[in-house]
Amino acid sequence: MDGCLFCRILAGEIPAKEVASSERTFAFRDINPGAPTHVLVIPREHIENAGTVEASHGDVLAEMITTAQQVAQLEGLADRGYRLVFNVGEDSGNTVPHLHLHVIGGRIMGWPPG
Ligand code: AMP
Ligand code: ZN
Repeated sequence: MDGCLFCRILAGEIPAKEVASSERTFAFRDINPGAPTHVLVIPREHIENAGTVEASHGDVLAEMITTAQQVAQLEGLADRGYRLVFNVGEDSGNTVPHLHLHVIGGRIMGWPPG
């Protein structure tokens, strides 16, 4: 989608620190990490957010989670645990309108989140 920040990262127009990649997904480091590991997993297809996901997105969503599992392995989080987050809309603080799964870990996290 024209002008979309994460579509531009996928197109190579904006640099990103790649962590993992698959046919339908791409994972890169968050520019403003909230934990020792903070990686974003995005679909190569432009989907606005989890609020617009449809049943037909099932395969790409499953691949986002398997890419997140791979990120957790690569970052040494698979055994100790990590958090997967989709922000949706204003109250959540969602800022980039291209679906992204936050993979957060490397420290003990409180619950519920602040
Ligand atoms: P959200 O608040 O769920 O929309 O998350 C968007 C995330 O994208 C934030 O955690 C930002 O720090 C991150 N972000 C914004 N621009 C970039 C960028 N150019 N490269 C990597 N991460 C980014
Ligand atoms: Zn996009």
